[in-house]
Amino acid sequence: MRTQSIAADSATVSANGARRWEQGHPWIYRSDVLKRPVSPPGAVLVHNERGRPLGVALWSPMSEIALRLLDSNPDAPLDLTWWRDRLATAITRRAPIGEHANAYRLVHGEADMCPSLVCDRYDRWLVVQLMSAGIEQFRDEIVTVLMELTEPLGILARNDVPLRAKEGLATEVELLAGEVPREIEIIEHGARYLAAPWDGQKTGAFLDQRENRVAAAARARGRALDCFSYHGSFAIHLAARAQHVIALDVSAEALGRAARNSALNGFTNIELVEANAFEFLKAQQRARERYDTIVLDPPAFAKTRASVPSAIRGYKEINLRAMRLLTSGGTLFTASCSFHLSMPLFLDMLRAAAADSGRRLALREVRGQPLDHPGIVTVPETSYLKSAVLEALD
Ligand code: SAH
Repeated sequence: MRTQSIAADSATVSANGARRWEQGHPWIYRSDVLKRPVSPPGAVLVHNERGRPLGVALWSPMSEIALRLLDSNPDAPLDLTWWRDRLATAITRRAPIGEHANAYRLVHGEADMCPSLVCDRYDRWLVVQLMSAGIEQFRDEIVTVLMELTEPLGILARNDVPLRAKEGLATEVELLAGEVPREIEIIEHGARYLAAPWDGQKTGAFLDQRENRVAAAARARGRALDCFSYHGSFAIHLAARAQHVIALDVSAEALGRAARNSALNGFTNIELVEANAFEFLKAQQRARERYDTIVLDPPAFAKTRASVPSAIRGYKEINLRAMRLLTSGGTLFTASCSFHLSMPLFLDMLRAAAADSGRRLALREVRGQPLDHPGIVTVPETSYLKSAVLEALD
């Protein structure tokens, strides 16, 4: 049925639009669509100006991103078998993570050639996000295949993302299959914590920092400070090695879960501090406090390209203060999840902060995204998280 509707309707794209697919990027913008399909959102066949079929794509009539490539085979049926193959490929790629953790991303949208689809696993439950009008039309196929491939106890849609409004879709949280609890206890490289799939940030936890917590913990010792701690996920990893850990966040609700996460792991050396990290770091510097281990994992300061300069000032300020607070031999793990702050800009920012700090800092590690969040070289939007491990040598 769907195959027929694809054949019946099509889009024609400009040479510029066609070039984006040739260069490995799945998006074609509205301005590069010469002939718009007449059909409602879903999947359509795409032709170039000379009428040659280029493939099938998700079609979003309202969005600036009009077409998202699904398959460069114009005859791809997009039936259950097709979705099973596509999703199974993504899921199988994550298998190695299962040895250390039971919460990780199964589908990272464009990076897994499932544009605008996210699926995260939390133990025996799944949380999905359908972020375009086109993908929304395949909801039934996706749910059926995910049930088949992973046999979860429930699937929740965290479709409460602002992006959906641009697609003309409702922003809501909806149970798609089975039951999903309010909190799910997950395990990650030996640490346990509670994820909040219904109302927590993202789909319930920050899965993208999983291996970075291990990297930060490997160097943790003495007095540790986890700024922007959310529900304490770095803090509980640090607490296994450090004497004392401050888990700091501006959100009392997040810290409430951090307290329970700390108890869940049997730690008594985690202190919760509800504060603004900017103020706290400034006050600690004034009081001449010192820390052996500091983690900075702030929210995205650069939400748009235009806000990059002010975001850089914010990142520089917290990094500069953290650098000054380090003991000799101390470690700073610092991250940015702003897509608009590229890796070169991030490293430039650290260089500027280090220069002003007066400290001699060694760049021990530069880190990208984990296995379950692949960043595709030709699709910059799939890469957003970058981090560095710095050691104070003086
Ligand atoms: N490190 C966490 C994720 C951090 S998300 C993890 O790995 O799970 C960013 C966190 O920063 C949120 O919990 C948010 O409440 C907090 N936050 C935002 N602005 C802040 C500020 N100015 N001071 C302290 N915390 C802040």
